[in-house]
Amino acid sequence: MRIFKAYSNNRIQIEKIENNNGKILAYSKSSPFYPDGKGGQLGDRGSIGPAHVLSVRENDDYIICELDKEIQPGEYDVTIDEERRMDIAQQHTAQHILSAAFIEIANIKTVSFHMGDEYCTIDVETAFIEPDVLNEAEELANKIVQSCTEVEEIITDLEGSRNYSLRKPLSDKVKGEVRLIKIGQFDVSACSGFHTENTGEVGMIKIIDTEKVKGELTRLYFVAGIRSLKYFQKYNSVINELAKMLTTSLDELQARIVKMQNQMKEQASTLSKISEEYARCISTNLKNDGLVYVEGYNEVGNFLLKIMDLSNRIVVFFDGTRYLIASHKYDVRPMIKKLMEVYGGRGGGKAEFANYQPEKKMERSDFERICSEVYQI
Ligand SMILES: [Zn+2]
Repeated sequence: MRIFKAYSNNRIQIEKIENNNGKILAYSKSSPFYPDGKGGQLGDRGSIGPAHVLSVRENDDYIICELDKEIQPGEYDVTIDEERRMDIAQQHTAQHILSAAFIEIANIKTVSFHMGDEYCTIDVETAFIEPDVLNEAEELANKIVQSCTEVEEIITDLEGSRNYSLRKPLSDKVKGEVRLIKIGQFDVSACSGFHTENTGEVGMIKIIDTEKVKGELTRLYFVAGIRSLKYFQKYNSVINELAKMLTTSLDELQARIVKMQNQMKEQASTLSKISEEYARCISTNLKNDGLVYVEGYNEVGNFLLKIMDLSNRIVVFFDGTRYLIASHKYDVRPMIKKLMEVYGGRGGGKAEFANYQPEKKMERSDFERICSEVYQI
């Protein structure tokens, strides 16, 4: 792994320990633990003596490790989570390769990089990427991986960096030592993060999603290394399971789902027609004035309230969960208010239509009583 030399120590000098209400912070002037978020990279984990490192940050004077138990200031052996470091190195090197591939294929520049625990993202300077360009850049990136090109680390300064064709030129304000990561003739960029020694160690680079961000950029989500394998295992397992559930082959899966969607649409349309017919049918047998109480399916209730003449009656429809109450003669809001006073629950709506869900079960007789109290009918 190409690790900046400051992060290759296996000892640490803890200058002071702070305990902020149980949050233990260890302060060091220098540390082999890479800080969380520095350069868009995940931070290191591991242990300092007997304590595990939970998070790492830095300020102008110190690198601060949050620990799971209190230790005394002093010098300690450290253990770094090397598996996590390798994952970080794979993602970071993949980012260099992918960013360079987009320049090579379509001159699309990367403006930022973020590394997460499950996937990484780069934001590139275009609002839209043609699917062909996406595929070509991904293929080129993977060819670079398969070429097993050495990933070199070059320590130089601003003046020395001018001998290389950097993907992103350094600011003239840069002072002191500069670390360049050079991938054969394919890419050179200044970077302080972890990288693999060889592109072959990066494993497959897979773009898993794209999203338009900030109006003019595209965010590319990608995985590399073991993450690519885990991603493939997960999707393979889900898709195989779906194919089994729908008793079809992987090749037929998409067509099968489209067919099911069409069937569902047809069934929903038929159900709607049947509900309307049924609502018309039962409406003819209902009385023409006063309180009309009906129980049934929600779909039927919605049609019933639409087609019924409400000019001389108040209709209460119960679908098994909530009551729909409608009338063109009586303002239904006082009824909802009274129901909530007596039976609790929640409800609301307008003068001509409202809904109500009581806390406890109600009977038709309860509505008859409330109606007679509120409207004297
Ligand atoms: Zn890097």
